[in-house]
Amino acid sequence: MPSPHETEPAPASAPASAHALAPVRDREALDPRGAKRDRSWPPAPEPLPYPVIDNHCHLDFSDGDEELGVRDHVERAAAAGVDAQITIGSDLEAVRWTAALLAAPDRPESLRGGVAVHPNEAALHARGTDHDGNALIGLDEAIAEVSTLLRGPGMIVVGETGLDWFRTSRGDERARAAQIESFRAHIALAKELDLPLQIHDRDAHRDVLEVLDADGAPERTVFHCFSGDAEFARECVDRGHYLSFAGTVTFKNADGLRGALAEVDLGRVMVETDAPFLTPVPYRGRPNSSYLIPLTMATIAEVTGTELEHACRAVRATTEEVYAWPEALAA
Ligand SMILES: [Zn+2]
Repeated sequence: MPSPHETEPAPASAPASAHALAPVRDREALDPRGAKRDRSWPPAPEPLPYPVIDNHCHLDFSDGDEELGVRDHVERAAAAGVDAQITIGSDLEAVRWTAALLAAPDRPESLRGGVAVHPNEAALHARGTDHDGNALIGLDEAIAEVSTLLRGPGMIVVGETGLDWFRTSRGDERARAAQIESFRAHIALAKELDLPLQIHDRDAHRDVLEVLDADGAPERTVFHCFSGDAEFARECVDRGHYLSFAGTVTFKNADGLRGALAEVDLGRVMVETDAPFLTPVPYRGRPNSSYLIPLTMATIAEVTGTELEHACRAVRATTEEVYAWPEALAA
């Protein structure tokens, strides 16, 4: 029976179509290589023998010489054996974009998401201006908006939050304090909403663990784009945390990271792209998308001495356990 409200326009916050949402950020603007970079999309690798989930990508970014929309990313991923994706909104514009995408009536069934104030953004909100000097809302207000949007449709994770001591100087006490304050607020949010937490940890291993230990980590805590060594990996899994590996694990200079992967059980391991960044070898530097995950999965299988199909099954099972999703796709 047709609903009497059927002809009413969708509310302004929900787009008519998930596929009409244009990307809000351009990787090119953030990439120091600029015009010298090869922006062509890498060819599709051999599809995986068993499907996995990309548990961290940024669909709000545009990249590449040919613009791909949400539908293109989803379809290419599915063809490569990546049948579900979690897209992460990490600055306020991306946070709102991600919430709108997930609220769209035609959002692909294989798509879920998460939002948070990224640690580097936390420092900017505390300062009150972005990189170009434009006014930003305060940190408390930004976290309040994230908290509201996390209660909307399709949100299954709080992230990415954590600490980034790479882009914040040691001497900038105010920025460091803002990151810690924001991280703690997101830990509390994950616990309140009973959602997993995705951690961004850049050059901050020790301090991230210290904050988690002090406040009590959410039951499902994920180190997104894990970047530690074997010893740190052991410390994380001993606490019950999960490690998500990105294309960085395929990089030539990443022996430490591969040592970390070899150290832990696949029951604690997940795979991600962090697309459009961190494109796996041999396409490093070119645009990244979920369809390139087979290259990273091949490395995960090799390093752990596991047959590829078995590695895919194990990594997928870990991902389903952490996100309690996708129930319907579970084997
Ligand atoms: Zn990311």
